[in-house]
Amino acid sequence: MGALDGKVVLVTGGSRGLGAATARAVVAGGGRVVIGDVREEEGERLAAELGDAAARFRVHDVTGEESWAEVVAFTVGAFGRLDALVNNAGISSGELLADADVARFRAIVEVNLVGVFLGMRTVVPVMREGGGGSIVNISSAAGLTGMARTAGYGASKWGVRGLSKIGAVELAEARIRVNSVHPGMTYTAMTAHVGIEVGDGKYPSAPMGRVGVPDEIAAAVAFLLSDAAGYVTGAELAVDGGWTAGLVPGRGEG
Ligand code: NAD
Repeated sequence: MGALDGKVVLVTGGSRGLGAATARAVVAGGGRVVIGDVREEEGERLAAELGDAAARFRVHDVTGEESWAEVVAFTVGAFGRLDALVNNAGISSGELLADADVARFRAIVEVNLVGVFLGMRTVVPVMREGGGGSIVNISSAAGLTGMARTAGYGASKWGVRGLSKIGAVELAEARIRVNSVHPGMTYTAMTAHVGIEVGDGKYPSAPMGRVGVPDEIAAAVAFLLSDAAGYVTGAELAVDGGWTAGLVPGRGEG
């Protein structure tokens, strides 16, 4: 018996990085997954690797209302139900607030926050009909604390945290749990360019002294998707090696 036996999960931005690790974790846990993403080639490859019985890829843009209706209908058509949604798709930015370009700020909020809102709104009727569900929204450590150089990104991730709480409160009655996950610095294509390295001692800014790897974030998401988290809603789970827990005096601010 896997912890996700019988569950059908839609993962946005699932073609690579944390979303791909989450899709793998869903299948490893006995669930079935629809991988949505604008990145077609990698998504198709991942779905093929996971096998047709357990995984499908669908082109999906989280900023589009119609795209959401389409991918949810596709999921129900493919696997008969929809038990869970992981709102993982996201884009990042590295500019100072005073230098931030308004068009870029809006674009980030559109993907990272409006995309999450649209996803939640689209799946609720389907989950209600199915008797409940679990929504996991991927925020960030930058949604728990004010982090320099994250103007649009940090603002959107604080928004995701807030929207998750609102969803938890409004949807509990429908047996829909909503939680946010807050990864710290984790090695993916999104972050590799900042020069981080995987390994003990390579990231002094986090109390654990290292960056995370995608499987570590996916394991936390899989827990929140599972019935083991049956009484968990409105929680914000930091998976960050202690990065947002506090400071280690004398270490770099990274
Ligand atoms: P990534 O860039 O490797 O993957 C993000 C995926 O989202 C990509 O496959 C991309 O094509 C997809 N995507 C982008 N815009 C989309 C859209 N409009 N519609 C559908 N898909 C879209 O990044 P990642 O590191 O795996 O990040 C995944 C999530 O985790 C993001 O929300 C990110 O903000 C969050 N996060 C990452 C870290 C980290 O250190 N890597 C830390 C905190 C939070």
